[in-house]
Amino acid sequence: MSDEQAVPTTNNFLKTIIDDDLKSGKHDKIVTRFPPEPNGYLHIGHAKSICINFGLARDFGGRCHLRFDDTNPAKEEQEYIDSIKESVRWLGFDWGEHLYYASDNFEQLYQWALHLIKQERAYVEDLSAEEIRAYRGTLTEPGKESPYRNRSITENLNLFASMRAGEFPDGTRVLRAKIDMASPNMNLRDPVLYRILHAPHPHVGDAWKIYPMYDFAHGQTDAIEGITHSICTLEFESHRPLYEWFLDNLPVPSRPRQYEFARLNLTYTVMSKRKLHELVQLGIVDGWDDPRMPTIVGIKRRGYTPAAVRSFCESIGVGRSDSWIDISILEECVRADLNETAPRAMAVLKPLKFIIDNYPPDLVEEFQAANHPQKPEMGTRTIFFSREIWIDSDDFMEEPVKGFFRLTVGGEVKLRFGYIVKCTGVVKDVAGNISELHGEYDPASREGIHTADGRKVKGVIHWVSSAHAVTAEVRLFDRLFNDPNPDRGGSDYKQFLNPHSVETLQSCRLEATLSSADIETRYQFERQGYFRQDPKDSLPGKLIFNRIVTLRDVWAKK
Ligand code: ATP
Ligand code: MG
Repeated sequence: MSDEQAVPTTNNFLKTIIDDDLKSGKHDKIVTRFPPEPNGYLHIGHAKSICINFGLARDFGGRCHLRFDDTNPAKEEQEYIDSIKESVRWLGFDWGEHLYYASDNFEQLYQWALHLIKQERAYVEDLSAEEIRAYRGTLTEPGKESPYRNRSITENLNLFASMRAGEFPDGTRVLRAKIDMASPNMNLRDPVLYRILHAPHPHVGDAWKIYPMYDFAHGQTDAIEGITHSICTLEFESHRPLYEWFLDNLPVPSRPRQYEFARLNLTYTVMSKRKLHELVQLGIVDGWDDPRMPTIVGIKRRGYTPAAVRSFCESIGVGRSDSWIDISILEECVRADLNETAPRAMAVLKPLKFIIDNYPPDLVEEFQAANHPQKPEMGTRTIFFSREIWIDSDDFMEEPVKGFFRLTVGGEVKLRFGYIVKCTGVVKDVAGNISELHGEYDPASREGIHTADGRKVKGVIHWVSSAHAVTAEVRLFDRLFNDPNPDRGGSDYKQFLNPHSVETLQSCRLEATLSSADIETRYQFERQGYFRQDPKDSLPGKLIFNRIVTLRDVWAKK
């Protein structure tokens, strides 16, 4: 990652641990990994994990692997593998040659399962899934040992070989570790190591009829890769003793240490893959990359920048206690980044025609407008002025409320980069709707906000010349849910969907320069927010802009 992309890094408990491990000589180089299961698209929570793992490797001169924990072919697909790689890269991280798949270790894991059988530390179980559950006991009662627990080594080896050979139907048998059915830690009550599944695998094809459980693959795969600091979320804390039991009982090549941190919980959204899947499947959103989704592909399409997401992940820190982060913090990081980098432009989203009766009909003036008010190095652009312009209908009130400083009949307003104009009349259609405004300009008022006779105007509004404007569709996105914690509805989280999470405006009028807008450029439409062309639906000749974020937090006052 280049210096330019680097974000200021603050201290956290993981950095302290790693710092100590390097100073004490326990490790001379650290190795971390980001280990997704390829069963869905990555979301902003995963971004936290990616930034932690790749960020630590970057900060301490180590390396970070991208590893697919692909032990469940029933839910995994190549589509997810491809998209996960793209999302990690988009966030600005690079695994170099260190791309791994847990499934590349399936033969080794199988050999280690045999090893456990031979040590009388694993057995083939014939009980059904339901019986296994019933025998497992509860948090307050010990479990009961299976009648198959004490099979001979030979019988176990034969049965396990037959499982691998595909001789039994799905679900008829499993391989279990023989640990302790009375352990207070439920994960140690003879956990399942292998299950039968006649399903092809997206990475290793149809070589296998049995698949290791996530818990049997995850820690050993870390050990094979030489991961020094195996960083995961807190729900794996109670799995750590099991992972350590595997390391103790298998001839693994290294001994990673696991450290847990609190997952990211973000308000006004859901992050469970099951729920995200459901939103896509039910057509509530327009795919995984719907700009309202908390997925990386969604926020990318919307126009969030990788730098903003990284600075968000850095700013929320890394801790060990569960907490909620308000989504406005993420939005603020996006604003802070775009405020620095986005060129300004004028766009009229709800156009109302304004005809300047005292302006010569054939005259066109060209004004130079700064692309960024504080950054002259970002240059200027030409904007055109003519007799007919568009202004935003929200900037006019026929009967102004108190404190309305924009345009009213008889009132004056400054056109940004242009003249002061006065509204002299309103034209209405038969239904009584305003169809156009008429007015006059003050030729001496191009510079500044004073009229020729020295009167000062309060309001400044944006506008575009109607002869030069380009037409565009603009999609105003808002939060997908209108409740801070949609998950409190359990499976009924959909009751909290925000019915106004998108408003599509046709016939918006944008300044001429935007006709050749680069798809990657994010603009600040003055007084409106930050916008970017939709990379999926925009076509040559059909401009579609997405609102990335508003200029201010409009939810704060709600
Ligand atoms: P599931 O395991 O239910 O499919 P998951 O969200 O845990 O879903 P993984 O692909 O296993 O998905 O996640 C990859 C890594 O990202 C894991 O190490 C996990 O701990 C981490 N992760 C997932 N969700 C979050 C989150 N909200 N905040 C931080 N890290 C997360
Ligand atoms: Mg997981």
